[in-house]
Amino acid sequence: MGTVGTKIVGMDVKKLTGLLNKALADEWLAYYQYWVGSKVVKGPMRKVVEAELVEHAEEELKHANMLAERILQLGGAPLLSPQDWIKQTNCGYDAPKNPNVKTILKQNIKGEQCAILTYKKLLDDLKKADDPITSNMIRKIMEDEVEHEDDLQAIEEDMRSAK
Ligand code: FE
Ligand code: FE
Ligand code: MG
Repeated sequence: MGTVGTKIVGMDVKKLTGLLNKALADEWLAYYQYWVGSKVVKGPMRKVVEAELVEHAEEELKHANMLAERILQLGGAPLLSPQDWIKQTNCGYDAPKNPNVKTILKQNIKGEQCAILTYKKLLDDLKKADDPITSNMIRKIMEDEVEHEDDLQAIEEDMRSAK
């Protein structure tokens, strides 16, 4: 870890890597929920929804990667066991037990809304610390989560007006 790079964080680095690990748990669960959802989804506009779910899964994995890289840069260790995802998650995991397209959309929209609020809270916490690197990373991730919610709600809207 870079010593000065770590010193400028402005908050307890262990606390920060702990918060980033909780976000990492969320991202892995979001990744899997989208990935497995894209496999099982059934119903109207299946192909459109499937493509969007796959795209979002890839983006959640990218977020997990960004978080893990930052945790390592700060001298921490990314969560090493899947059991920790469930223990550490902020937003939980909503298994797509019902493959109906509308149900899956609803579950994933709920997940995105939790992600947006969780990152907003993290960004607010970081304001006091004023760590520009982590804050910029969280802003980039949040931008994607806001887009994800909007994408899924747009599909819901199209499905409603198709009737
Ligand atoms: Fe994400
Ligand atoms: Fe997302
Ligand atoms: Mg999208």
